[in-house]
Amino acid sequence: MNSKSTVFLTFDDGPQSEITDWILTFLEKEQICATFFCVGNNVMKNPLLFEKIKKAGHLIGNHTMNHERGSSVSTSHYISSINQANTLINSNLFRPPYGRLSLWKGLFIPSQYKVIMWSWLSYDFDSMVPINEVLQSAKGIKPGDILVFHDNPKSFERLKIILPEVVKIIRSKNLLFERLLP
Ligand SMILES: [Zn+2]
Repeated sequence: MNSKSTVFLTFDDGPQSEITDWILTFLEKEQICATFFCVGNNVMKNPLLFEKIKKAGHLIGNHTMNHERGSSVSTSHYISSINQANTLINSNLFRPPYGRLSLWKGLFIPSQYKVIMWSWLSYDFDSMVPINEVLQSAKGIKPGDILVFHDNPKSFERLKIILPEVVKIIRSKNLLFERLLP
């Protein structure tokens, strides 16, 4: 991995039928490898789709079992949710839902997991943020940036517009796409 010239696309919350399929088709067409932070329960509901993501050469990360918000559940619940999801997901990469992780809970995350946040947010989930503002900020994406998009129904309509445009902007900057390092 050469972070001098690469950026990392990541997709949270899947797999979800139709949405994940759309993302996989797009990435295949663009010949991009990405990283999918999956929710354990969605993997249970969509096992074939989960296999399809891996087969396409993408990397998988853990996004808890039920998309728990760290501040709403006990530390032991949170850690067991990560571990339970890992029995399905089998990855050392972990991204906390909502991008929030208290220092206290962070201390209890088993050392096998590498916590991965992001450095650029697509706001695909937030219709209050105008798409032209998102694309304006995409022009500032730099080598080594970790970009986050969402593989969920709430974001899908905006994702379909934002993702192709962001990929165009990144290509115009001669940056390459890679999976995160496991
Ligand atoms: Zn999430």
